Amino acid sequence: MIDYHIHTVYSCDSLLEHKMVCNRAIELGFDEIAFTEHHDFDPLDEGYGFYDYAKVLSRITEMKQAYGKKLAIKHGVEITYQKSREQEISDFLEDKEYDFVVGSVHLVGSFDVSQDAGTEEFFKNRTREEAFLSYFEVNRSLAESGLFDCLGHFEMIRRYAINYIDDYSYEEYAEIVDEIIRLLVKKEVVLEVNTSGLRHLPKETYPRFALIERFLELGGSYMTIGSDSHLIEHIGYKIPETVEQLKQIGVTGLTIFDGRRKKVYNV
Ligand SMILES: [Zn+2]
Ligand SMILES: [Zn+2]
Repeated sequence: MIDYHIHTVYSCDSLLEHKMVCNRAIELGFDEIAFTEHHDFDPLDEGYGFYDYAKVLSRITEMKQAYGKKLAIKHGVEITYQKSREQEISDFLEDKEYDFVVGSVHLVGSFDVSQDAGTEEFFKNRTREEAFLSYFEVNRSLAESGLFDCLGHFEMIRRYAINYIDDYSYEEYAEIVDEIIRLLVKKEVVLEVNTSGLRHLPKETYPRFALIERFLELGGSYMTIGSDSHLIEHIGYKIPETVEQLKQIGVTGLTIFDGRRKKVYNV
């Protein structure tokens, strides 16, 4: 099994040590993990200035040497995507040695969809449709940018939004969601199935299965899975069960990475 979304002390919001993560993954019988620390380019972001590429690379190299025989370890990163920072992100990635680069939408303007603070205000100051469409619009630009190997936790806006406003269905935003999915398929960007939504209020993966099924219908085949762990008890969170569900809808393989090249992990 694999877990392709894990944060450690090298992210601003996790206290996990790399060794703890590796030992736990081995204990759970996982074959492969990817460390995906946050890298934020916006000074408004809480993680701004925290990420240290050289430090992360050296730690992951040590981990690969120490655990390589028991556990495949991949050097990833989770970058907060903003359209206005595409050039900066592209310049940063140009000379870096990653296995796997996730692009995620955390910020819609100055609103952070991964925080409860600000959510009520965001939905108060615009119509429900404007609010959700503005979130989808950033995801659409991300998919179109070609900068990333993977779209992280699509639909994470549901995490706190549903505290304040009615949830939406796939059908309600089918047009723009299909447009995003078609871009992912065309650009061969991997769709992440992020299991953190199962421990958040939506109690569904990000994205939910209706969208994963739509991704398959529209010809998508590259998919990965991650727990988005910031705590030890979340390593591998509900991944085996979710993979079983994916198999039931016809998924036979997940996508893993080596030096940003795709490989198949049969399930
Ligand atoms: Zn994220
Ligand atoms: Zn994350």
